[in-house]
Amino acid sequence: MRCDLDLDARIPGRRTGWLRIPHSRHESGYGIVPVPIAVLEGAPGPTVLLTAGNHGDEYEGQVVLRDLVRDLDPARLTGRLIVLPALNLPAVLAGRRDSPLDGGNLNRLFPGDPEGGPTGMLAHFVTTELLPRATWALDFHSGGSSMEYLSCAMARATDDAALAARLEAAMLAMRLPLALVVQATQDARTLPAAGLARGVIHLACEIGGGGTLTPASVAAAEAALRGLLGHAGVLAPDLPPAPPPRLMRVAGSDHFLFATARGLFVPEVALGATVAAGQRAGRILSLDEPDRPPIALQFGRAGLVVCRRVPAQVVPGDCVAHLASEA
Ligand SMILES: [Zn+2]
Repeated sequence: MRCDLDLDARIPGRRTGWLRIPHSRHESGYGIVPVPIAVLEGAPGPTVLLTAGNHGDEYEGQVVLRDLVRDLDPARLTGRLIVLPALNLPAVLAGRRDSPLDGGNLNRLFPGDPEGGPTGMLAHFVTTELLPRATWALDFHSGGSSMEYLSCAMARATDDAALAARLEAAMLAMRLPLALVVQATQDARTLPAAGLARGVIHLACEIGGGGTLTPASVAAAEAALRGLLGHAGVLAPDLPPAPPPRLMRVAGSDHFLFATARGLFVPEVALGATVAAGQRAGRILSLDEPDRPPIALQFGRAGLVVCRRVPAQVVPGDCVAHLASEA
């Protein structure tokens, strides 16, 4: 696998090309998967890696990074942006969370596998060729097709106190209402986890979801992008001051609530609600036995509902909501 662009050449201006993932198949014996990449370079300064479409059905980041690649004058930069608006291209083309080529959920495959399928090879290339060149990184997410989020900057918790302080300061600069520190017990196979393990100040954000876009969600993604680039000193801030976000944490499995039966989940609290421990979250109605008593779901702890499931039908194991709690 290789990149069209020489990432060691520091050339001011805009360059675009492909990451070429070999993908030999019946329809295209010597075919590749052409993942678009852009490098925007200005005056000497740090490198920021910007990624969207890690999950193909999460759209806000895909919008603002496409706009950035097309519209930003690289001469305004003090540093370099490496931008991939459609990182898992097959998933982006399909509008799905995972790749139709190999079922790969890119954000559960890091650090990747050079001998694996297309998605594992892509993860390995990002880990070995892009992360080592970055000082800062931001990976855009949303709730995708099945979840919906309040607008949150996110950073993984780390034992490195200096890095934790830099992550927190960056989240506070990202101009979103919430800044969540996510406990490291959460999945370690994500892109930001791979970045942090390699010393990158790697942020993420969760904005919107439900497989759609809204004016507010696109504006939030744009604010997060401009906020981080300003904080990194790469692009002079051009937005008015924003109120500081609320710093919260996602500290353990009790922050997540799962369906225990198949049926229709009828929520009793809304996204953005503050709930108490033991409070009812909703009930699950049987689809085919109307006279069966509903099954109640209760929150295991107090917190703020920062994410909710979108489709009403659930099966056992579906996450119907997750909470953040005070930092
Ligand atoms: Zn995602």
